[in-house]
Amino acid sequence: MLKGTCLLFKLILGLGNKDIESVKKISTFYIKNGIDMIDCSADTILEIQKNLKADNFDLNRVKFCVSVALLGDVHTRKAKINKNCVQCSNCKNVCSEGAIEKFENKYRVNSLKCSGCGHCEVVCKHRAVDIYNYNSFFADIETIKNPEIKLDILELHLSIKKKKKILEAFSKVCKNYKGNISVCISRKYFGNEKINKLIKELKNIFDMYNPNFEFMLQLDGNSVNNANDEYSSNLEALAFYKQFSNLDYKIIISGGLNFKTIELLKLFGLKPYGLAFGSYARKLFNSDKTKASDLVLEVRKFYSDN
Ligand code: SF4
Ligand code: SF4
Repeated sequence: MLKGTCLLFKLILGLGNKDIESVKKISTFYIKNGIDMIDCSADTILEIQKNLKADNFDLNRVKFCVSVALLGDVHTRKAKINKNCVQCSNCKNVCSEGAIEKFENKYRVNSLKCSGCGHCEVVCKHRAVDIYNYNSFFADIETIKNPEIKLDILELHLSIKKKKKILEAFSKVCKNYKGNISVCISRKYFGNEKINKLIKELKNIFDMYNPNFEFMLQLDGNSVNNANDEYSSNLEALAFYKQFSNLDYKIIISGGLNFKTIELLKLFGLKPYGLAFGSYARKLFNSDKTKASDLVLEVRKFYSDN
């Protein structure tokens, strides 16, 4: 059970991020800097944990979350470069994941690193980027049933258009998976009223099959953002949380979080259960490690202040 614990800083490595060497390095760095939860893909969790154990790290000091996404959710996207490419490098310059590489004098997307953010597609003037979806939802859930894995929570990314499909998939997962579940949802397809109803329906299903475990929420704002330290990238996550902060669940916010998040939370008088940092934290790890550890300190200070 997660009850009684206090989660503050969650690091999102990205459910589309399957670049084992990179996730091992980033997770080790942030864990040693005192974060509370790692959120990674089903394909990388075992390697991350083996790496930490080899470094004599007690896995109980951090929570492990695996994220899986339903086909159609923005997190199931990847980019591919097609034959229209004229090698201008605009896409490479905007890719915060470092996923665009030159191979035999041609640009290509390293699908292990691509988060599907779509920024490359936006800047390409030659229609040379195709975005596609991949489906590994149920296969990923089978993967994490490996008893060697320490898993504290399974996170389901369920932002798709069809509510019926969300409920069907959720019921199937709850019947077959016994453990804590977090639902990550955005307002991309539904307004507040429909989201509120959906959350209640999901909770009822969860309680029916998993009464001894915890149901959590992750409210996703500006998903797969441009990873800059801007106020604007936070606004959807904060507005979303403001609407649902009275719900009786542990709620984490994500999507566009950065240093400005703390300033804005103070300004609006909000304190969610946890903050999930993704592309911004990964970018800091690659560009400025001092600032990356300052981010963890800043979040800790925010939560320790009354
Ligand atoms: S922006 Fe488009 S044309 Fe330029 S390198 Fe990237 S894919 Fe090729
Ligand atoms: S810009 Fe985004 S979608 Fe394009 S290759 Fe990089 S991570 Fe993938």
